[in-house]
Amino acid sequence: MKILVAEDDPVSRTILVRAVEKLGHESLAVSDGEEAWETYRKTPDLDVIISDWMMPGVDGIELCRRVRNDGREDYVHFIFLTALSDRDHLLEGFEAGADDYLTKPLDRAELQVRLAAAERVRDLYRRLEEKNAELERLKDEFFRQARRDPLTGLGNRRRMEEDLDLLQGQAERYGYSYCVALCDVDFFKAYNDHYGHPRGDWVLKNVARTLRESCRRGDALYRYGGEEFLVVLPGQRLESALSAAERMRAAVEGLAIPHEAREPPRVVTISAGVAPLPTKRGANVEEILGAADAALYAAKRSGRNRVCARGPEEAS
Ligand code: GH3
Ligand code: MG
Ligand code: MG
Ligand code: MG
Repeated sequence: MKILVAEDDPVSRTILVRAVEKLGHESLAVSDGEEAWETYRKTPDLDVIISDWMMPGVDGIELCRRVRNDGREDYVHFIFLTALSDRDHLLEGFEAGADDYLTKPLDRAELQVRLAAAERVRDLYRRLEEKNAELERLKDEFFRQARRDPLTGLGNRRRMEEDLDLLQGQAERYGYSYCVALCDVDFFKAYNDHYGHPRGDWVLKNVARTLRESCRRGDALYRYGGEEFLVVLPGQRLESALSAAERMRAAVEGLAIPHEAREPPRVVTISAGVAPLPTKRGANVEEILGAADAALYAAKRSGRNRVCARGPEEAS
């Protein structure tokens, strides 16, 4: 361990330093409290402080209080050196935050067991810190996993709802506009029935990747449900959102994934419903999603593989 020895008496200091080093520890020796404080501050990997009680200037108690109030993350074990006559002060020392004490004159065997105890505490503390770091990491990991769709790697519905709430708040506060496009794979049940579910999964992955590639930076894409994806287009008006959705529709059709079980063009396609943010205040996320869903329904009804919009007046 790295041990700071603070003792104003040169003889006791030398004895203590020798004893500490003989036990295999590294020692830093200082002759008063102020110097001890400076050394403590310059030594981030300090494990133990062994401090005399009475020292000129900053005494042991004051040093101990400063160390405890410092807020350093790593725990520093604090041991007081006390002559027999100082024993009345022990309580005060522990109250100031000391962990242990050594009586003068120094007994090497006592020093050895006190330092062994300090080392045990330090090791436990380190293990606890490692565990905490691991828990933090797992918590972040779970947080991310809980918001991610495992099949496509996109944000899932939970993530989407959180993001939309945030966006809606900003839209109201700063007057941003945004649109959403709800995309749905056409005749996907028939695809699964014809090609099997695993192949259907493969299609979903490819559609997700294609949508992502045809998004702009700043657009967000989520897996809304089974074969439905939601694109959020911040800062876009209906016309530009419509052309973005049209680009995505064309890109999926351009994949030319055969779909024998549907009428021509006999490839996998999507339909999309686009809706703008309702302009009135206090509009909620469900409203805009409802409008996008209605537009999607219109796209399906009018033949699929197309994009339909829901105007602001209809959406609100
Ligand atoms: P429409 O053109 O009207 O959208 O017809 P559809 O067949 O695509 O719509 P429907 O809602 O009837 O069927 C959706 C299908 O999507 C049914 C379901 O089995 C399939 N599906 C949902 N999630 C998954 C998935 O994770 N993997 C696979 N392979 N299929 C899925
Ligand atoms: Mg002294
Ligand atoms: Mg659907
Ligand atoms: Mg569908």
